[in-house]
Amino acid sequence: MKLTDSITTLKGIGDKTAALFHKLNIYTLEDLVRHYPRDYEEYEAPVGIRFVKKEQINSLRVTIKRVEGVKRVRNLQILSVVAGDSENSIFLTWFNMPYLKSKLRSGETIIVRGIPSMKNGRLTMEQPELFLEGEYQKKQGLLLPKYPLTKGLTNNAICKAVRQVVDSGVLEREFLPLSIRKENELAEYNYAISTIHFPEKKEDLVFARKRLVFDEFFLFIVSLRNLKEGTEKIENNFSFPKCEMTQELLEKLPFRLTNAQMGAWNDVKENMNSSYVMSRLIQGDVGSGKTIVAALALMYAAENGYQGAMMAPTEVLARQHYEYFMELKEQYQLDIHPILLTGSMTAKQKRMARERIEMGMADIVIGTHTLFQESVAYDNLALVITDEQHRFGVRQREMLMEKGTCPHVLVMSATPIPRTLAIIIYGDLDISVIDELPSNRIPIKNCVVNTSYREKAYQFIADEVHKGHQAYVICPMVEESENMEAENVIDYEKMLQSKLPSDITTECLHGKMKPGAKNDIMERFAANEIQVLVSTTVVEVGVNVPNATVMMVENAELFGLAQLHQLRGRVGRGSAQSYCIFVSGSDKKDTKKRLEILNKSNDGFFISSEDLKLRGPGDLFGFRQSGLLEFKIGDIFTDAAILQAASDAANELGEQGIPDTEEYAELKKKIDSFMEQDLTTLSL
Ligand code: ADP
Ligand code: MG
Repeated sequence: MKLTDSITTLKGIGDKTAALFHKLNIYTLEDLVRHYPRDYEEYEAPVGIRFVKKEQINSLRVTIKRVEGVKRVRNLQILSVVAGDSENSIFLTWFNMPYLKSKLRSGETIIVRGIPSMKNGRLTMEQPELFLEGEYQKKQGLLLPKYPLTKGLTNNAICKAVRQVVDSGVLEREFLPLSIRKENELAEYNYAISTIHFPEKKEDLVFARKRLVFDEFFLFIVSLRNLKEGTEKIENNFSFPKCEMTQELLEKLPFRLTNAQMGAWNDVKENMNSSYVMSRLIQGDVGSGKTIVAALALMYAAENGYQGAMMAPTEVLARQHYEYFMELKEQYQLDIHPILLTGSMTAKQKRMARERIEMGMADIVIGTHTLFQESVAYDNLALVITDEQHRFGVRQREMLMEKGTCPHVLVMSATPIPRTLAIIIYGDLDISVIDELPSNRIPIKNCVVNTSYREKAYQFIADEVHKGHQAYVICPMVEESENMEAENVIDYEKMLQSKLPSDITTECLHGKMKPGAKNDIMERFAANEIQVLVSTTVVEVGVNVPNATVMMVENAELFGLAQLHQLRGRVGRGSAQSYCIFVSGSDKKDTKKRLEILNKSNDGFFISSEDLKLRGPGDLFGFRQSGLLEFKIGDIFTDAAILQAASDAANELGEQGIPDTEEYAELKKKIDSFMEQDLTTLSL
């Protein structure tokens, strides 16, 4: 067995099961061991009823007092049991599990594990896990991994597969030199991998995780350094003497650029005219007006006879940008030739677009990642912009270089991270910050409510729609799932349509739809043919429909604050007052406290740093991610200390360069493969 082997070499994984693993991007054994648990379940020592903790999973030791038998209610078979200890009793129910009855005898002591609640005035536990004392003892104290799943693949199946690899001992050679491990107190690599999956104690888990987080940050930073060295020396062979059209557009726009926008635009212009090619990040909160800066840069390139390309993370956003350019062209009679190139276009449409690009007939090229596929040849590409894409992939840059072009690169991101972190994470880029919102904005009104507020919210949405506005409703899930209790787009949209007056059109939008269908819905929403869009977070990035004034988020407790802030950024883009309604499905205190931060502030930087303070480094279980700059395992906020250590270690290495010694040989290989693979797939 080798780590590069296919997962089908494992027992119990045939082609059918393998296909399910593929859905999780697991093809090889290495992919499998790097499919880290998203959480762990701990089987704590069982306690008596008086120690019950509310709203959490409890393991209770109780004695069965009475088995009430199986009742039929509609299509449900309900098994109820009264159990208790010397002081208290608890009501237990199971649905559609009549066979459990044979396991339950009066007077027997059992362990039940579940979330207790008060129902009809009595303490109740529904659908608890059920154990006999001996069964439970075997599990007690263990930490069981819970993996990200896909439909049809159980947690147990993944566990078994990982177990086989870990037990086989074919892991990887240690690649970190001992000196780095010692200085940073890092576990050995193979120990870390097996422990992250099957930890015996919390402390072991923490130790193992630290190593893997360090690896990820360290390799990332070292790779960035290599990139920067690569770009710093690239000569700028383009020249941009003309600026008339761009200047004219600036003057004719219906608004004046903010000072911050102006500063960013000047940085860009200066870079484009300097001796070396640009690698710049423009960071600006949602709604700060990044698009226009990108537009100016693209015009500037076009005006000087070059091509510029702008890449968006979704087709919806790409199409929107394309239409924005077409509008500018018409409105201001600009001599530009925008073109769209996305994956969902027909083969013929794509071929025609590629021809126009190749012949230089199109000068502003907008699309998704398809823009840099091998089949696309540019005539004279001088500028590449990525919007909300966080980073222009290394591989993409290399591909262009192989084709003989080394364009200026501009990256635009709304990710609110503090400057100190930005310098580490975007080490290969210069940074411009747009830290000012256009002055015509009316602040969004926020509220955090519980589910009992829904009817009022629907009424409110109906009223806003009747004033001519539109609304988004966000649900965390696409469809119903057994694994998680949360609102889903498909059922919600049906329900909402029936609650709203019939003159209001609702539609749903989610990532499982075909790109063409998504575009269609988005276009109809932009044209106000759809008034209420029920969507997953696919609308989170970039989308601009200024007529929408209400953003309602269901199960807000399940989202990271920064993500919620992004969602909120979809409204408040026009001149009308906008509203954001965060519906929390949980009454927990800390959930409320977290969401209140959003209520208080509209500032992305403030929100993400407060979120961090609230979570603190103690929030280890679940390793809740901030939803920002998603590394595989590390989180730049909660693991900020490890990030700093990794950065220091990379710095030390940087000063000397990586020594050509045996000790560093494995590390060198690892860095190369990281740059090849991981750096291009991380969504940073
Ligand atoms: P983001 O930074 O989130 O990408 P956009 O570039 O989409 O923001 O801009 C949001 C809205 O603000 C757009 O409708 C845009 O036309 C408008 N806008 C941009 N700059 C200004 C400005 N200086 N004054 C007023 N409105 C602006
Ligand atoms: Mg944008």
